[in-house]
Amino acid sequence: MLVKVTEVEHYTERLFRFRTERPATFRFSAGEFTMVGIENAESVIPKRAYSITSGPYDNFLEFLSIKVQGGPLTSILQNIKIGDEVFVGDKPTGTLTLANLELGGNLWLLATGTGIAPYISLLRDPELFNSFDNVNIVWTTRLIAEQTCFKEFIASTASNFYCSTTRESSELEGRVQLLIEKKMILKDASPKTDKIMICGSIDFNNEMKMYFNNKGWQEGSTKIAGTFVQERAFVS
Ligand SMILES: Cc1cc2nc3c(=O)[nH]c(=O)nc-3n(C[C@H](O)[C@H](O)[C@H](O)COP(=O)(O)OP(=O)(O)OC[C@H]3O[C@@H](n4cnc5c(N)ncnc54)[C@H](O)[C@@H]3O)c2cc1C
Repeated sequence: MLVKVTEVEHYTERLFRFRTERPATFRFSAGEFTMVGIENAESVIPKRAYSITSGPYDNFLEFLSIKVQGGPLTSILQNIKIGDEVFVGDKPTGTLTLANLELGGNLWLLATGTGIAPYISLLRDPELFNSFDNVNIVWTTRLIAEQTCFKEFIASTASNFYCSTTRESSELEGRVQLLIEKKMILKDASPKTDKIMICGSIDFNNEMKMYFNNKGWQEGSTKIAGTFVQERAFVS
């Protein structure tokens, strides 16, 4: 379906966010992704997977987007303006949903870069806070400016927020793996008491998946709820 753009905000030369109207028929679960594209009569522009950052009850759709230099979609998508139309696929799907995770205890949402996107939707869903005693968000970006888009919103939620950077000095520095090693996060965590979501680069997901598997966490899917779930933030 084609939907009208209602808001566009650019943060860095690599990152922007946009909102569109939400057709009344468009339904999704917090944490899901859908296809996004641009219809262009002159050339075929590929549609790409995008996590929805708006909440399931919001009256708008929202997306956080990377700008890849020479990227088939984003080199064009980054120029959209209010009033333009974008294509949004009407079959949202994904594994980072509450349905795929055992509920209760502590929830840890681990993200790098645009991997924060599905968690923003989850944080906008009141069901998340009804489902866990404690919600923790751990978000690592290269630069501080890459957190501008959602830092204030996350800080305003009833969650514990750990944001770190890897290429610039900030209050908390280093990769998620380092924060775990230093026991700054996930201290005394166990599969019984702590449920995990993972969303980042392929390397990040693979490293995290191996770490949690080795410590007894079981991956959940649409077939069976687990103690952790993961989805790549992009394919390389
Ligand atoms: C399940 C899923 C959900 C996704 N959700 C989002 C999202 O919410 N926001 C978003 O910006 N992208 C998201 N992506 C990535 C997105 O589908 C596109 O890859 C991205 O928009 C770039 O499109 P492109 O055609 O310009 O370049 P592509 O040809 O798709 O990508 C070119 C290269 O850029 C790098 N790249 C692509 N996306 C990213 C990224 N997000 N962060 C860092 N490097 C990247 C990769 O190395 C890739 O090989 C998601 C991908 C998957 C599989």
